[in-house]
Amino acid sequence: MSINLGMPALPPPTLAPRRKTRQIKVGKVLVGGDAPVSVQSMTTTLTADVNTTLQQIAELTASGCDIVRVACPSQDDADALPEIAQHSQIPVIADIHFQPKYVFAAIEAGCAAVRVNPGNIRKFDDQVKEIAAAAKDHGTSIRIGVNAGSLDPRLLKKYGKATPEALVESAVWEASLFEEHDFHDFKISVKHNDPVVMVRAYELLSEAGDWPLHLGVTEAGPAFQGTIKSSVAFGALLSKGIGDTIRVSLSAPPVEEVKVGLQILQSLNLRERKLEIVSCPSCGRAQVDVYTLAEQVTAGLEGMEVPLRVAVMGCVVNGPGEAREADLGVASGNGKGQIFVKGEVIKTVPESKIVETLIEEALRIAEEMGETGEPTVTVS
Ligand code: SF4
Repeated sequence: MSINLGMPALPPPTLAPRRKTRQIKVGKVLVGGDAPVSVQSMTTTLTADVNTTLQQIAELTASGCDIVRVACPSQDDADALPEIAQHSQIPVIADIHFQPKYVFAAIEAGCAAVRVNPGNIRKFDDQVKEIAAAAKDHGTSIRIGVNAGSLDPRLLKKYGKATPEALVESAVWEASLFEEHDFHDFKISVKHNDPVVMVRAYELLSEAGDWPLHLGVTEAGPAFQGTIKSSVAFGALLSKGIGDTIRVSLSAPPVEEVKVGLQILQSLNLRERKLEIVSCPSCGRAQVDVYTLAEQVTAGLEGMEVPLRVAVMGCVVNGPGEAREADLGVASGNGKGQIFVKGEVIKTVPESKIVETLIEEALRIAEEMGETGEPTVTVS
């Protein structure tokens, strides 16, 4: 028996419409307006080490990263930018503090964008006119990146600490300097390590203008803490339509930042969901080792590109009902696994065959979806 699963006709719902922002270009990636929310990361290699940096950028590209940032603290790093910008498959942003000369070098190097920090902007303030002119000539965009840890000393004195208002005042001041010179191709970030302060700052900033916003919780911490802080903060903002590009900062390899960023967007239906493993938490009723099963299925299906929901359930009490809601699922019990495809039990296999059967079926469905977009269920 074959059952046509069909595909959803409408895009999945989001919690709020995206806030209307001005659109800019970061190389080939559009940011703001109706462009999808993009995911960024930053390399951890020495930028001057071109090959190692390009290798890490290639890994980031493969993981789904849209835009990459590289630090540029020295002349050697600035000298490496032309080759990196030329060979990277995703737009490169040069991250520049203190040294205006590197801003010009990055623009000349063909970087898609340059990040400047208003905290050390006095060095830049007098040169905004020249920076704006050079950026305009080369089609380079700018990120005004305010950071709580390097807030303009004038504002630190005025507010006593890096409050949301202080972060926003710094950003708006710098934005006005660029706008005075008729330069509008910039986005803004106001990062703080406290998600509450960060969220409030972005809310205030989004009320103050239509600039595209780059979201980030700065120094969010090691993977576990940083993932939670970023998810909470980005979730609070994105669920109100605020945010045009995101960077999850983790004390972990940058590919992990991209994975978390993509998962946040997928959770909010701001990116198409790809593989989603729905596994039960297990409980006293479990008749199978759900953790191992879920891990093995996840590992076996890594990299799958189709929006497939796979349910791994530990028992036959709630298992069948929940597995039915997924595209593919298993409900285990009595040493066996009932394999479901879109609500139909297609077969029952011994426990030792559950993982390989799920993987086999997932690959079959993925292939069908790739060919026709419409998988079928065949009950054997
Ligand atoms: S599916 Fe069964 S084992 Fe898993 S949490 Fe629910 S009741 Fe417990």
